[in-house]
This record gives sequence, structure tokens and C-alpha cells, in this order.
Amino acid sequence: MAIEHPHPTTSTVKQLYAHAFRCAYPGCHQPLYSEDTLSGAWVLNSRICHINARSEGGPRWDPRQSAEDNRAESNLVLMCLEHASIIDGPKALDTYPAERLLAWKRDQIAEFQQLRQGWPLTNSMAEAAIGVSFTDVAVAIHSSKLQLGGGGGNAPGAGGGGGGAIGPHARAGAGGPGGRRLDFEGNPLPEDWETDLPELADIHPPPGSGGGGGGSVGPGAIGGDGGGGGDFVRDGLPLEAGDVLEIEVGAAGDPPRLPGQHPPHGGDSIIRIRSAEGVLKRVIRAEGGQGARAGRLPDDWATISDEDLRSGFSISALFPVNAAEFREGLLFAIGAGWVRYEVNTLPSETVWGIVCIANWENLSPRGTRGLQLCLTDPVGTEVSRIALAITPEDASGTTLMWRVGLGAPLDRVGRWSISVQSGDFLLSRIGVQVNLVD
Ligand SMILES: [Zn+2]
Repeated sequence: MAIEHPHPTTSTVKQLYAHAFRCAYPGCHQPLYSEDTLSGAWVLNSRICHINARSEGGPRWDPRQSAEDNRAESNLVLMCLEHASIIDGPKALDTYPAERLLAWKRDQIAEFQQLRQGWPLTNSMAEAAIGVSFTDVAVAIHSSKLQLGGGGGNAPGAGGGGGGAIGPHARAGAGGPGGRRLDFEGNPLPEDWETDLPELADIHPPPGSGGGGGGSVGPGAIGGDGGGGGDFVRDGLPLEAGDVLEIEVGAAGDPPRLPGQHPPHGGDSIIRIRSAEGVLKRVIRAEGGQGARAGRLPDDWATISDEDLRSGFSISALFPVNAAEFREGLLFAIGAGWVRYEVNTLPSETVWGIVCIANWENLSPRGTRGLQLCLTDPVGTEVSRIALAITPEDASGTTLMWRVGLGAPLDRVGRWSISVQSGDFLLSRIGVQVNLVD
């Protein structure tokens, strides 16, 4: 088991908030609480961040640090929601070493000494701040601008990169396989065939590369796999004097931008050879790279079995929400269970918040079980998929709730469906009617 130090105490957190006013990120003016001007209520607008991570392998983890030093005021700094996410991002670690965060913390305290303005918290406010800072990782990271998606391939025919993933027990997606290498007859090129084509490789992203996998965030998150590379076709062109070549370069598959979205395929590249008189003599086509499917379950996960269903496993709730948060085992939802969704334009890039609750009486201990949450368009094409995990630890309870974002470019009106499946079983399905309004 990885080491995980205990949370800071409420008195440490009260001490921190009493001696700081704004986010520690240089130039950020976000106050640690926002004040509702009408009611005067304070709304938490910050997170407690560790300078050296609380969990082994986390950002700036220091194996020499004791548990007491780790939870001490000197190892904690207060940041707004956006910056709390940024300093722990996977690509940001080189940019935000511990020394830099310590310097920001010193400036934050110096500013307090000048302003004489801090936030005197009650015990329950301090507990609430601890609760969201250390159990609500997924939401905190969602609010950042991290690029977790794997890139499309970086050479003609290259496979796309797998997506990144953040969260406890998270896994990055696998990179996509490279494309086939063929001659004009569709036969494989010999192994030693020279494939350096600098003029093509300089196009970014290169034609026919596979789509990148999507990133994902949250406990047990799984990054999407990269797509496979497109065909690489090379041969001597069968040309005669006066022939005209038409060349169409397929678009590269970009990484998906929305959570769970299947990465787009790369476009086909096509060469048409016409005679001087305009007669089409030959068409040579290299297929574009495939966008991989998002939401694949890792090979070592089980799916829901007959036996699980017989022993009472079911999806007891599946519904969209505008906003939801789990606190102390309860779900707080705002604007839940709608069945219609209105857009102003098509396509409209949308992320729906989805709550899914599974119940069971008794699950036999057999490793992690995986479910898949899928979004399907009105003509039956699946556009988005996210993997959900039930770990052996979860299985010892009798219920599990997920709140995830599921995204897609909504490109047609009609009834879109959201389903939960595992292995051969469709466990639950609901519909959302998408309408276009002026
Ligand atoms: Zn900030």
C-alpha cells in the first residue's frame, strides 16, 4: 500500500485561513472565500494544497517527511480552485517545484501582514474545507485547463497517443498501433523499405495519423487508448506524359476534447490519376488512422456476471444532473433528472453530468469489476464511453455512486440515449430528447 499521511487538523486549517486572504498564485486575485453580497454568507472558493504531497508518488512527494511535518501549517498553502488544480497537473510539476510554492506561501503571509485581513473560520467551516480539499480531487482537477488527451500520431501513419489520467488508481490509455505499409497493389512493403518522408512528416499533425486517446480524471480514471495509424502507401507512380494528379490529404485524427468522447478517425488520403483528356485512370487510397474507442476496460478487470445479477446487483438510478456533489455519503444534486435538452446550434459541444448508482447485496470478491457508461446518438451510433470501476474495497459495501461528465458534440436533434453496460448485459438505459431552439 502506498503511504498516505493523515489530513491536517482543523486547528491547523483555521490557523492557515486566519493568516491569508487571497489565492497564493502570483497575480491571482481570487479571495479564499467569496462573500455573497446579499446574504453576507461566505462561500468556500479555495482548496488546501500540500506543498509536498500527502500521498506517496503524488506531486512533490518527499519520502523523508514525517506525517506530522506533512500535515503541518508549513507544508500547506491556500489556492483558488483553478490554481489548486494547476499546481498538481501532470505536466505542471516541473514548473511548480516545492521551493516555488514555499515562496508563494511566504508572499501570501506577507500580504496578510500588510492587509490584516484573513478568514476566521469556525470548526465546521474548517472541516468542510478539509472535506472538499482531500476527498473531492476529481472536481478540483476538472476545473483546470489541463490537456490530458493523447495527441494524434506524429508521423504519417503513426498511431495516436493514449490519454492521460489523474486520480487514485488511475491508468493512462495505451498508445495506438502504427499503420500498415503498403504498395499501390495493397501488398505489404518489405521490412527494410525506407519510410523517411520528411516533407510529409513536417505537416503537423501528419496526414492519416491515428486519433489520440482522451484524458480522464477521478478515482479509478482510465485514459482513452490512442487510435491506430493510417495506411502508409508508397510505390512508383504509374504515370504517362500528360497525366494529371489530384491529391487529397486526409485530416489527422485529433485527440477528443470532451470527456468520454470517441476520438475522431483520421481522414483517407487519396491520389487520383487522370489522363490529359480528364479520364480517371486510377485511384490510390490510403486509409486514415482509426480513432480508438474510449472507455475500454483494462484487461484485468472483470465484468458483471450472471451470478452478480442473481445476487441482486442492479443499477438503481441513472440520471443527468446540472450539478452534483457527494458529501458525507449523501448526494446533493441541482437540476436533476431532466429529459429534454435544448441547444442553439448544431453541432453543440456538450458535457452532461451523469449520476449512476449501483446497488447489490453481496458481491463475491473477484478483483475489480468494470461498467461502461455510453452515450448513443439518435441513429444508434455510440459517440462517447466512460469506464466505471467497482474495486474489491467498494464491493465490501452494498452501494456505489458515480458522478461523471460524459461529453459529445451533439450534432442532431432527436432522442439520445445514455446507457450502462457491462460485458453482455445492458443494465440501464435512459433517453434525453435534444431539441434545437432559436
Ligand atoms: Zn488563483
